Amino acid sequence: MNKVAFSSWNGKVVDNRNGKAEKDVAANFPAPGGKVAAMMGWGGLVASDSKADIPSLTFNYLKEARKISCGECSVCMIGIDRLLDIMGRMADGKGSKTDLSEMQVIVKQVSANSKCSFGQSALYPVLDAIKYYKADFVALITGEKKLNGKEYQSTVTAPCMDACPAGLDIPGYIELIKNNRFEESLGLIRQDCVLPGVIGRTCTHPCEDACVRKDIDESLSIRLLKRAAADFDLANGAKPFGAPAKEKEEKVAIIGAGPAGLAAACQLRLKGYGVTIFESLPHAGGMAAVGIPDYRLPADVLTHEIDLIKRMGVEIKLNTKIEKLSIKDLKKQGYSALFVAVGAHQGNRIGVEGEAEGYEGFVDGVKFLRDMNLGIKIEPAGKVMIVGGGNVALDCARSCVRIGFKNVEIIYRRSQAEMPASDEETEGALEEGISIRFLSVPVKIIAKNGKVTGAECIKMKLGKPDESGRRRPVPVKGSEFTVKTDMIIAAIGQSPELPTMDTKVGTTAWGTVEADPVTLTTQMAGVFAGGDCVSGPATLIEALNMGNRAAEGIAAYLNGNAPAEQVSFAGVDLAKQRGQGLVVNNAAADVALLDPKKRSGGFEEVEGGFIAAQATQEARRCLRCYRVVVWE
Ligand SMILES: Cc1cc2nc3c(=O)[nH]c(=O)nc-3n(C[C@H](O)[C@H](O)[C@H](O)COP(=O)(O)OP(=O)(O)OC[C@H]3O[C@@H](n4cnc5c(N)ncnc54)[C@H](O)[C@@H]3O)c2cc1C
Repeated sequence: MNKVAFSSWNGKVVDNRNGKAEKDVAANFPAPGGKVAAMMGWGGLVASDSKADIPSLTFNYLKEARKISCGECSVCMIGIDRLLDIMGRMADGKGSKTDLSEMQVIVKQVSANSKCSFGQSALYPVLDAIKYYKADFVALITGEKKLNGKEYQSTVTAPCMDACPAGLDIPGYIELIKNNRFEESLGLIRQDCVLPGVIGRTCTHPCEDACVRKDIDESLSIRLLKRAAADFDLANGAKPFGAPAKEKEEKVAIIGAGPAGLAAACQLRLKGYGVTIFESLPHAGGMAAVGIPDYRLPADVLTHEIDLIKRMGVEIKLNTKIEKLSIKDLKKQGYSALFVAVGAHQGNRIGVEGEAEGYEGFVDGVKFLRDMNLGIKIEPAGKVMIVGGGNVALDCARSCVRIGFKNVEIIYRRSQAEMPASDEETEGALEEGISIRFLSVPVKIIAKNGKVTGAECIKMKLGKPDESGRRRPVPVKGSEFTVKTDMIIAAIGQSPELPTMDTKVGTTAWGTVEADPVTLTTQMAGVFAGGDCVSGPATLIEALNMGNRAAEGIAAYLNGNAPAEQVSFAGVDLAKQRGQGLVVNNAAADVALLDPKKRSGGFEEVEGGFIAAQATQEARRCLRCYRVVVWE
């Protein structure tokens, strides 16, 4: 929708109807991908077709908005009901001259008196429709026109939902918590997130960055609210997943029991397909099991959530590495489709002299964490140096403190401002006595008798920004120095280690699998791929979402259906809205953190969760910024 006939988006009117030349077509209107003749949403009304039936669009918009109206402050629910009544009467040829002015008064009353962001903003586009398409509404009243009776397409989103890779219904589950309905809240979360306790502890929570409250006082603690729903379930006798649909004949094979594989398995099972996951390690969970340490994600939380998935009838074959992938063999074994979700488990090389020598005391970060999580004993040496500035480097360093290393140092080539690790992780590391040497990098591993004794390093300065936007580190000539250390852990990223494939499944220059971004199908029909092995190292919630989408893609493939056409509203500013009411400042609730002095020597969880009363209190801060969009 690059050229519009009409737009009132965010109050800026562009009117190109009647061939009127309008210079400013680059107005602030959304440009959804896919074919859209007209749309109505929280920001206004947009039509690419000058003959679009706006009264019918408005009627459908009100019907969808009514579903979101919760009735708590009643004004919005009663107002929308009344608007629907009036339009219904008009459609039956029983309209009156005063209908339009009455509708305008109702919209203004609802916007001014609703308590949540949805009620305050949702009805503005109705005012635009009446103002700019008045003749069409009058034609309805006089009986010259009828509503077209069509069902329009619609979607519901919110700034937080839009930022969530899995599009969780965040205002919905928060509202249930607010009303003490933890069990139902968890049921809603589980629809798109099969590992709620895991995600509630470890998610990178982009939703909180998008939270409208961020600019008022503080973002809602969305991640902790999700955790509260999952913890409530664990403490009150876990509820199983819903029952699978009618059993289907087809079976699906999945390689890798990480979040992507588990999400796909769960969703496919719910649809009634038989599912087998082949997993090379002795534990399921992928990086959530063998990457993330226990002090951030206790193993029993993950085990519990995997058990629930297994109880649905998902078979997980552990210790079963698929070295060579033969689609023919899998088909012979009765599998009709395959999902490759093998993650990225190969630590990247730092590219320095000595790292390929196999010195004792030199290890990559993912192997170090995997060994530790699989219970392989790691003897704490005196000093350990961790190379890298991301969350994996921080996990290695903070684990070393707990294993008993006395001196833990991170070496990072840029400054603190460019460090990719989250602030929470960096603060935690500093509290635990870990030192960070910025603007430095090792250039050579020093060893004696095959064992690491130190590293030759060089200082760096920051040059011009590189393609990532961060300033490029440049070595400072003559600034070499030596650091004595007993162990070096290289944590500068991971790449996938793909099984050999006998198919035409394509790979990229980064060694990831090529897959369609929507359906996750590969070049080979019936073979799908997702998670880190497609995206490169990313996050748990992104992997879960790819698992969900793969399940949809696989089901469509097995049913012989074409994937549904996608209309995307990505890039449309959801936070910008007309009619934000007054919000009373109210800071987020705090949770207790384990005393830093008690953290070394054990892997006890650092972050405490909300108790139920704190969770309901925090949930009350939600502004319920739902946005409804209807289009044809
Ligand atoms: C140390 C660390 C900490 C992290 N912390 C966070 C965090 O706090 N928050 C966050 O959101 N993300 C975090 N991540 C990223 C997150 O863990 C990954 O993005 C996510 O796990 C990817 O899921 P996946 O299912 O694609 O792959 P994985 O979780 O890697 O799972 C892939 C599975 O496939 C198995 N497999 C591989 N090859 C084969 C084969 N040939 N045959 C059979 N099985 C095979 C593997 O053993 C593994 O179990 C972290 C990653 C690491 C390394």
